[in-house]
Amino acid sequence: MKKNNLKIFGRNVVSFIIVLVVIITLFSLVATDSLKEKEEISLAGLSEKINKEEVLRMVVVGGNIEAYISEEDFVTAKTEPGISVYESLVNWGTEESKIRKIDVDFKEEKDWSSVLNLAFLIIPVLFLIFIFYFIFKQAKGGAMQALDFSKAKARVFGEKGSPSSGVTFQDVAGLEEVKEELEEVVDFLKNPSRFLKLGARIPKGVLLTGAPGVGKTLMARAVAGEAKVPFFEISGSEFIELFVGVGSSRVRDLFANAKKKQPCIIYIDELDAIGRSRGAGVGGGHDEREQTLNQILSEMDGFAQDTKIVVLASTNRPDVLDSALLRPGRFDRKIILDLPDKKARQEILKVHTKNKPLVSSVNLKEVAERTPGFSGAEIANLANEAALLSARKRKKKVGQAELLEAIEKVLLGPEKKGYLVNKKEKELSAYHEAGHAIVSSFLPEAEPVQKISIVSRGQAGGYTIKIPLEESRIKRKSEFISEIAVLLGGYTAEKIFFGEVSTGSSNDLDRASRYARKMVKEFGMSPLGPLRFGGERSHVFLGKTMAEERDYSEETASKIDKEVSVFIEQGLKKAEDIIKDKKETLEKVAKTLVEKETLERKEYEKIIKSS
Ligand code: ADP
Ligand code: ZN
Repeated sequence: MKKNNLKIFGRNVVSFIIVLVVIITLFSLVATDSLKEKEEISLAGLSEKINKEEVLRMVVVGGNIEAYISEEDFVTAKTEPGISVYESLVNWGTEESKIRKIDVDFKEEKDWSSVLNLAFLIIPVLFLIFIFYFIFKQAKGGAMQALDFSKAKARVFGEKGSPSSGVTFQDVAGLEEVKEELEEVVDFLKNPSRFLKLGARIPKGVLLTGAPGVGKTLMARAVAGEAKVPFFEISGSEFIELFVGVGSSRVRDLFANAKKKQPCIIYIDELDAIGRSRGAGVGGGHDEREQTLNQILSEMDGFAQDTKIVVLASTNRPDVLDSALLRPGRFDRKIILDLPDKKARQEILKVHTKNKPLVSSVNLKEVAERTPGFSGAEIANLANEAALLSARKRKKKVGQAELLEAIEKVLLGPEKKGYLVNKKEKELSAYHEAGHAIVSSFLPEAEPVQKISIVSRGQAGGYTIKIPLEESRIKRKSEFISEIAVLLGGYTAEKIFFGEVSTGSSNDLDRASRYARKMVKEFGMSPLGPLRFGGERSHVFLGKTMAEERDYSEETASKIDKEVSVFIEQGLKKAEDIIKDKKETLEKVAKTLVEKETLERKEYEKIIKSS
């Protein structure tokens, strides 16, 4: 039962109880009214009255005798059970001749008390029936709601009476090429007739692809905002419900609604939830998906030449989409949204700090530099975290320190101060992190260490943040080896200083192994040559590649394994050489870390330079 229904239910019960009380009071009023307060006398007294000929007539009602002394007035007496009124009066000494003179009426007892009894019996039953009825109605309502799937739960913006999405291209930072590409869609929606007159066919479907949080939804809304048209937003996963056939009727409903509001945009988020390659689903449920997908396709195919609807869809898994979706006349236009680069990150920061008071010395460029790989959503989150931090510190403005701290919070989760209660653990963590940092600093492809900390955050026991000098999409083999060396720096330091390794390196080892495996299998960096081993990247949820397609022999597999460990060994060797060489420096860093828990870039570099 929903909260709201519960409220209604409560109100109904209260009113019912009130009605009940009123009814009972009425009953008892009526009941007592019938037994008007008349003088009650004993049978002996009545006998006497009869003998004195004071009684005109008698009416016997149930167990009562009403003896009329005048036409209006009567007294009452109780009959005796078991014997007749006549007999009992005689027994009480009434003269028989006197009784015979009196009219005696026997009346049906109108027994109010029994009516009352009946009421008390019936009312609870009625009450129960009422409750059952109510619950049934509720349940039925719920079931009806559950069954009334066919209505698409699309969120609509920009329709008359509902708020416009209000987002324009100005709210989307960076992504200039994407905006350019979508400009055409905006133009069409703004002025469809211009295009239609020329017989131009505008793309019916545009697929926005990109990592989660890069701003696909935002961009789609901005298109609607720019064109000032209604925007129907629904998520692919919302089509998939318990019952087969629901998805497709929702699609029908959605498109029917949209057709009434054209020109407009339909935005389907997470298209991959319905549009995955057919016949490859793991387990059940793909029947439903298939129907939903077919419905979408047939709706799009059914667009007339002059239909002024553009369907935007987003996915972060374009590789798993059914090819039927991508055919001409469907989602034939694909736009890729990249993770923002440094400049774009700075712009996104600007957008999201626009209405937050910033200290004038804030350097957004530095924040952007320190956030490689952040998505737009993460940057938005960062800006918000910085504001929260400032508020908690009772500051009036957001400062650089808060922005930088927010980076770590977004990256690694909140600090768990006092998590390292154990001195031994703290020491181990310090040497481990110092190991990462030292290896990173003394590699030829050194990336400056931004911060080292042994205060655990989220999953990480400690962390070392380094910033890449430049963001490059292309990585050379030697850079990979260096990366592996840095990752193994923690492990190596533990081994060298404590003689054994702890569980703290598992994440590092995992990443290092993955790098090495990729170098061999995907990048052809091993002596096995420029071959790609293994099929597509494996998509666990896709049945067909549940276990990675293996397009190589058992023999090759063991060769691959060998080459992977060669890369790991090379990285390890590098790390060991550096750490052995810089043992004292590392020790100094570790000791400072134990003491201070965090080291910023400047302090760290001072230690390194002084030794
Ligand atoms: P997606 O749909 O790609 O997963 P969203 O569009 O939902 O991502 O983005 C989530 C949030 O991240 C947006 O509401 C916005 O606040 C922020 N964001 C993402 N990209 C940008 C951008 N380029 N400019 C400004 N804000 C952005
Ligand atoms: Zn580590």
